[in-house]
Amino acid sequence: MKGAMNMYVEVLIEYKVKSLDRTFTYLVPDHLKDIVKIGMKVKVPFGQGDSLINGFITNIKYDSNLGNLKSIFDVTDRELVLNEELLKLGDYIKDTTLCTLISAYQTMLPSSLKIKTITSNYQKQDSYLKLKMPKEFIKTYIEDVRGERQKELLESLLREEKVLKKDYSPSAVKTLLEKGIIEEERVNVYRISKEDNKDSIEFNLTKEQEEVYNRILESKNKSETFLLHGVTGSGKTEIYMHVIKKIIEEGKCAIVLVPEITLSMQIVNNFYKRFGSDVAILHSALSQGEKYDEYLKVLRGDVHIIVGTRSAIFAPITNLGVIIIDEEHSESYKQDNTPRYNAIDIAKWRSEYHNIPLVLGSATPTYESYARALKGVYTLLSLPKRVNDISLPSIKIIDMAEEAKKRNMIISGYLKEKIHERLEKKEQIILLLNRRGFGTLVNCATCGYTFKCPNCDITLTYHKSSNTLRCHYCGFYIKKPDICPECKSTEIKDAGLGTEKLEEELKKNFKEARLIRMDADTTSRKGSHEKIIKEFKEEKYDILFGTQMISKGLDFPKVSLVGVINADMTLNIPDFRSGERAFALLSQVSGRAGRSGLSSEVVIQTFNPDNFTIKMLEMGSFLKNYQYEMSIRKKLKYPPYYYLVGIKICSSIYEDASIEATKVYNYLKSNLNPQSIILGPTTAGIFKMKNIYRFQIVIKYRYDDNLKTALKSMDEMYINHKTVYVEVDMNPYYI
Ligand code: ADP
Ligand code: ZN
Ligand code: ZN
Repeated sequence: MKGAMNMYVEVLIEYKVKSLDRTFTYLVPDHLKDIVKIGMKVKVPFGQGDSLINGFITNIKYDSNLGNLKSIFDVTDRELVLNEELLKLGDYIKDTTLCTLISAYQTMLPSSLKIKTITSNYQKQDSYLKLKMPKEFIKTYIEDVRGERQKELLESLLREEKVLKKDYSPSAVKTLLEKGIIEEERVNVYRISKEDNKDSIEFNLTKEQEEVYNRILESKNKSETFLLHGVTGSGKTEIYMHVIKKIIEEGKCAIVLVPEITLSMQIVNNFYKRFGSDVAILHSALSQGEKYDEYLKVLRGDVHIIVGTRSAIFAPITNLGVIIIDEEHSESYKQDNTPRYNAIDIAKWRSEYHNIPLVLGSATPTYESYARALKGVYTLLSLPKRVNDISLPSIKIIDMAEEAKKRNMIISGYLKEKIHERLEKKEQIILLLNRRGFGTLVNCATCGYTFKCPNCDITLTYHKSSNTLRCHYCGFYIKKPDICPECKSTEIKDAGLGTEKLEEELKKNFKEARLIRMDADTTSRKGSHEKIIKEFKEEKYDILFGTQMISKGLDFPKVSLVGVINADMTLNIPDFRSGERAFALLSQVSGRAGRSGLSSEVVIQTFNPDNFTIKMLEMGSFLKNYQYEMSIRKKLKYPPYYYLVGIKICSSIYEDASIEATKVYNYLKSNLNPQSIILGPTTAGIFKMKNIYRFQIVIKYRYDDNLKTALKSMDEMYINHKTVYVEVDMNPYYI
């Protein structure tokens, strides 16, 4: 019957212009009638010249009062279809982040599928050969075969059930296939395939872990969000694995989110070791083909566990049983371009959709999460101690102002002594210095001239190894000048401290020590990060030093000393979350010490030993630092007491940005609730970046029923503006 009727589809077009975020009706040609489904990606002719563009089918119908419709051209991919849940989720993302529906849909599919041609995506197949005739027949047949190559192939097939086609002579294969002696079988091969050699020991949970485990599983058929607040080394990962094992036994699947993948390889490997080929991984460092294959594993139900970064939260699983978000405080869970979604919000939505638990784990949860837990919106689960009574490291604060008097500018006398001690004991050391490069800024000692990036409103950083001055935002660089462009003096000096300079200092002080640096410069090549971690773990080095990427999730049993070279760099960032972040970063890096039970110590160097955060760190009091920061936020009307919206008004023309920023302000002022607070426009943050001037307006509100409508119409006013664009960020991480 279907064949006789006309079939139509509504297609949401993949087109950049926001005003086109709507569907168009197309006719379905006969040969595609049995193939098209809602949620499928198709190619359709569009606009003048009928150029082909992609779109998603949002509806199928059998009548249309529109005449003269165009037909869809083809289906982009038969397997990759957004299911009903993901289509609904798209609406939620559109509504909460104020993006277009099409950009929400695009975000949910792996990025390789956004490109126009997907030929390179086609999955690899291996061809096998098998006998088509009984073995007895072959044994006599083989005697008459003249070709040596054919004989060889047949003999292999008498020994083995099937063989790989590519291992044998193509002409021999062809002849035998044509004669009907053998047949060919194609098998899908995934680009990443893990053997099932699971070699990890499964621990029996401790009493504390067991309680957490039981509490989570109590709600296995309920939408409930847990905040698992467990100190570093308290055995959170082990609990995740036990929970997942149970969920899988019941035939359901799990999503595990981790921050940046390079920093999370240890946890990924733990999952591989425990669950083998039942794990798929989804993250942006995979090749397009790998991504496509991993996605197919999930779609086809070949795996029960998906481990990945932010966008893995969209894994198309229909029988989801649990979602786990590790290091929930990580900023990587918020996407910082459109759509500006937060994976934790998506996880909550899916937890409600599937009626399943969501576990947010961290040693240093965000204060917003912690506040929710204390209010009972989340269920708080605490693990205040490390597994097996291993103690947390002791913390020593060093006043660098005192050290400077003794000419110890970079490494204090105390830290030096401790490093020597640990080197002697053949234990390992981690040093954090949260700034790469050699010095922070280079300036002229005669006139004070500083070198700035011509594209961004920021000073350049000196990199000694390449003798360049570099912008860490846009990548601009110049050779370090010998003469000041302003006064022609040759007195060009670097001030401050970066990882390269620390390296020099370490070489000078610890001649026998084997050093390895980890920062954005030494890890730019694919695989270099993993190599550093592996070799440090194998004790090929004594001291690992670098930027904050060394602070996360790494488990090195032999590390017994952690040093923070300059804690002030983290404390002095002008943002209402800096106290929270500094405490988190410094606790995380401290947590790298003594994980296997060696008596361990953390040395923190600072010019502000009386700073409240530093004091709380010394006492190890997450709670007190939380309470202190919350009292400030209450007074200053910051989250979680107020919600924030960040609006950026951007243009390459300064005047245009400035004028429109004032217009936006006035518009909001007359359209929002009077209780909402509108700040700005300011040039906060980095005002000029990559040649774009950026003004900012911040809205603080508690309840505002006019907000979304106002923001949407404001957004629409700028869709077709020639020189200005506007970005809206609901609940921004940085303002
Ligand atoms: P976290 O994720 O909280 O930092 P992990 O789960 O990585 O902690 O555990 C820290 C260390 O303790 C790991 O080396 C892990 O193998 C070990 N561990 C965890 N749970 C147990 C247990 N129940 N018995 C013995 N060792 C455990
Ligand atoms: Zn000068
Ligand atoms: Zn720049």
